Amino acid sequence: MLDINNITVSVDEKTILKDLNLSVGEGELHVIMGRNGSGKSTLANILSGSDKYKISSGKITYKGEDINILSPEERSHLGIFMSFQYPVSIPGVNTMVFLRTALNSIRKARDEDEVDAADFLKIVKKNISIVGLDESFLYRSLNDGFSGGEKKRNEILQLLTLEPDLAILDETDSGLDIDALNIVARGINNYRNKKRSIILITHYQRILEHLKPNNVHILMDGKIVKSGGVDLANKIEEKGFSWLEQEA
Ligand code: ADP
Ligand code: MG
Repeated sequence: MLDINNITVSVDEKTILKDLNLSVGEGELHVIMGRNGSGKSTLANILSGSDKYKISSGKITYKGEDINILSPEERSHLGIFMSFQYPVSIPGVNTMVFLRTALNSIRKARDEDEVDAADFLKIVKKNISIVGLDESFLYRSLNDGFSGGEKKRNEILQLLTLEPDLAILDETDSGLDIDALNIVARGINNYRNKKRSIILITHYQRILEHLKPNNVHILMDGKIVKSGGVDLANKIEEKGFSWLEQEA
């Protein structure tokens, strides 16, 4: 699904990722952990195609295609989705209209028929019940006045509605109470299947109790310094990151 090959990434002359490698197979869930400022969101942003970052070397291949030059829109049409660490509010843009426009623009790019309003309502009502938000949220402006937890659930609503092939979830479990965390985990599991891949950025081992990740990677100073299973996440929860520096 995704092959990140030796990429070095900078922003405003500052190198953030250095010779980073990561491969994610079809149906796999990879977890990225790391201290604040280690480059996790940078990794998410360059995958979704943000133009703020400069990739000075290396290659990103998605479904066998070099995506470095593709715009965020083109990547979205190819099935890449990103949930933002800090979802923005867009006053005046109705959540339902936003979701339907996003879905139909992806379908159009793939020469598929657009979903009409009635069919879309069925899809989105099913999905909003999975994320435990009231249907009234669909008629409000996107994220406008939503609480932190409601914004994160709304990101999962987008995930379930757009059905991407590769989902990059940047701290979607941060700032959630226990109930909301369980709901977000349920949404991710609902989305997950043998064909869909996920990169999950998180600080907490707790969400991994609900999701069975294939790999856990630790990002430090712009590089993956260690990879393992859930036990690695448990060790981080218990001991923090400094033991890894000593090991390195
Ligand atoms: P994480 O998500 O792991 O907390 P980020 O990828 O957001 O880390 O940031 C990695 C590093 O890049 C941080 O030190 C951050 O300050 C720096 N950085 C991000 N954007 C910019 C920018 N526009 N200019 C300078 N430094 C930046
Ligand atoms: Mg971040």
